[in-house]
Amino acid sequence: MYNKIPGTKDILPDEVSWWQNIEQLSRSVFSIFNFKEIRPPIIEDISLFNRTLGEFTEIVQKQMFVIHNQEDTYALRPEGTASVVRAYLENNLDKKNGFMKLFYIGPMFRLERPQKGRLRQFHHVGCEAIGSFSSEIDVEMIALAEALLKSYGISGYKIILNSLGCLKDKARLVDILSKELKDKITELCEECNNRYGKNVLRILDCKNESCRKVVKKLELGEKHLCEHCLRHFKEVRSGLDTLKIPYEVSAHLVRGLDYYTRTVFEITHPSLGAQDALGAGGRYDNLVSELGGPDMGAMGFAFGMERLFIADEGKAKAQDEKLVYFVYLGPEAKKTAFKLMSESRAQGIKADANFENRSLKSAMRRANDINAALVIIIGEDELKKGTVTLKNMGDGKQEEIALDSCIQEIKSRL
Ligand code: AMP
Repeated sequence: MYNKIPGTKDILPDEVSWWQNIEQLSRSVFSIFNFKEIRPPIIEDISLFNRTLGEFTEIVQKQMFVIHNQEDTYALRPEGTASVVRAYLENNLDKKNGFMKLFYIGPMFRLERPQKGRLRQFHHVGCEAIGSFSSEIDVEMIALAEALLKSYGISGYKIILNSLGCLKDKARLVDILSKELKDKITELCEECNNRYGKNVLRILDCKNESCRKVVKKLELGEKHLCEHCLRHFKEVRSGLDTLKIPYEVSAHLVRGLDYYTRTVFEITHPSLGAQDALGAGGRYDNLVSELGGPDMGAMGFAFGMERLFIADEGKAKAQDEKLVYFVYLGPEAKKTAFKLMSESRAQGIKADANFENRSLKSAMRRANDINAALVIIIGEDELKKGTVTLKNMGDGKQEEIALDSCIQEIKSRL
């Protein structure tokens, strides 16, 4: 027997209906916000991620699923933004459409140490608005994130917001942080000691208790922001206030990836434990030009579907359609059953039959086990009279109905 590899999950039929429902709800909210779906490949040239996420980020350094080909090196995508921007530029969508609002739903891969809410194959519901520097886009994206959560029926989340500023501001933030942490290095964990020289912002994200203690005392505020970025951040907050979207500003929220600039946000939920982010995102105003495109602002975010499942406790399942189950007793009855079943299906009724030629008793048990709403029992004697038996599994009532009106009778009872 084989086992799945650590950090992956089998989504079994019972759970799939939750996934389908979340996907459908997402598609309908995206459509209401006028976003269009995009489906880039799951494998990309590894250099796309190295370049965009940042050489010293954890994803690039440790978490990439790498595929070595004879000449090339590919990677399973660890996130969606880089692929979407690549596809946007490669297919000239910047020239054909200019500003575009795109969404995607699909698996992502990171070679992490598996734990609650942290898998090696997980799924994102994500979106990108490419082609605008305007602060209204930031508001639109956060409003969209909230609308998605509301459509899933998830409450009790917190929206945390910060601005990293433009590239210059970000460099200033790195400077400020490096200075503030300089004489506290010995109090930081081993990993943060490494981060200090390479990706100092990431220290703010560290879950290690001793690092958190140090980080908590830092006074960061907005002193790294230039005049333009200060204004942009103010506009974003005022837009959210207008829409009455509650949020909390935290100068400690940085997001680890290199491409983020200006607005970053994270949505947390208390049900998630240590990995408490349901979703996250932010602006990436330099990424499009860095990948060879024009100077265009952009913003995106993604929810982790497995974490949505934890927060929702798998409750948002789609309503299953009601099932009619045909039970036949004898060769003539079998022919009639298959004709009726085929007619039912042609009319969009979910139908199944007791293919195993069971006894009436075991066929009825099976009908019960698979949650049939109605059972049509076809016996040879009744058939001669032109009737069949209809059993309503809800109240257990049984009645004889005319064979000719069977489909209408089924329809009127479902
Ligand atoms: P990120 O791309 O790291 O900003 O992640 C966005 C969202 O994806 C997070 O807030 C999580 O909900 C989810 N996520 C990220 N990494 C994982 C993982 N390894 N396993 C499950 N969900 C994840």
